[in-house]
Amino acid sequence: MIYRTLGKTGLRVSIVGYGASPLGAEFGRIDPEEGRRAVHHAIDCGINYFDVAPYYGRTLAESRLGEFLEGKRHQVILASKVGRYDVDHFDYSARCVTSSVEESLRRLRTDFIDVIQIHDIEYGDRDQIIHETLPALRALVDTGKVCFVGITGYPLLQLADVISQTEVDTILSYCRYNLFDTTMDTMLTPVAKEHGVGLINASPLHMRALTETGAPDWHPAPHAVIDKSRAVADWCRSQGVDIADLAMQYALAYDDVATTLVGMSKVSHVDSNVKAVGVAPDPQLLAAVQAMIRPVADVIWCEGRPENDDPGAVPKQS
Ligand code: NAD
Repeated sequence: MIYRTLGKTGLRVSIVGYGASPLGAEFGRIDPEEGRRAVHHAIDCGINYFDVAPYYGRTLAESRLGEFLEGKRHQVILASKVGRYDVDHFDYSARCVTSSVEESLRRLRTDFIDVIQIHDIEYGDRDQIIHETLPALRALVDTGKVCFVGITGYPLLQLADVISQTEVDTILSYCRYNLFDTTMDTMLTPVAKEHGVGLINASPLHMRALTETGAPDWHPAPHAVIDKSRAVADWCRSQGVDIADLAMQYALAYDDVATTLVGMSKVSHVDSNVKAVGVAPDPQLLAAVQAMIRPVADVIWCEGRPENDDPGAVPKQS
């Protein structure tokens, strides 16, 4: 495993991070015992950063992760979230996020959370995020219940704007640096670097589009992107390559981020994803895949309040 420092937090995090949303059955039902083995195997492989949220499986992922980490909590850096509780239930008030952290602590069976993040800030009012939610979370830092405070979301300009206006320790951006979309590199990374904010890249498999199984029904990307993902997976298979391996190698080679979060609930996926560490993608294969993807590269979709969308975003599943 390779470790990098997460911004000014000083935390040394594994470049493959454990995304726990599949433990909440976000990608379909899982075998919980296999999920437990996957978590333990990840720790044995040197993965030390675990990301979860109350939203994943409507608290199921936190409950399972808390159970699976029993006796191992001290071996990991634990990140969770506040503010998003269902597909269309958001509450970024100080009162809600403060009690939300207490509930997460109980479910995660711990007395502190290393990184607490405001979940999908594009669904909130930016002034409230800056002047109410973040101060409430910083107050929790003073109590020792959380160590660092971050924000997460899909549109990049709003994330960049918030870190330009106020103190934030970490940013999690998803689906914006992988084989389909690399716009994080120009729209967010330079600002994060300037402010010393720890940068986290999530969804290197574009939320399962870049796998043999393919995207789930709820995937928000336009049809052209999903269709292309099938064509690319088929072509890779014809070359004897698993598209997920190439996608992981590609994302992990981006060393401006501290960690890349990939969702896992199977031991075999932990193995494949860890195997991609330090392996450069085959240049010819990569060039061929990028040429196939080019017509739909950097296509982004609308997410959250319209005023928070990045320019050029198209309706979901259009
Ligand atoms: P992802 O791109 O990591 O894809 C995960 C899916 O791919 C799962 O179905 C998993 O079973 C499958 N998979 C994993 N490794 C595989 C492999 N080697 N071969 C084949 N299939 C494989 O998408 P994600 O899970 O949405 O993102 C990763 C994590 O990042 C999440 O679990 C979550 O913790 C975090 N995240 C946070 C936000 C946010 O805060 N707004 C948004 C998205 C993701």
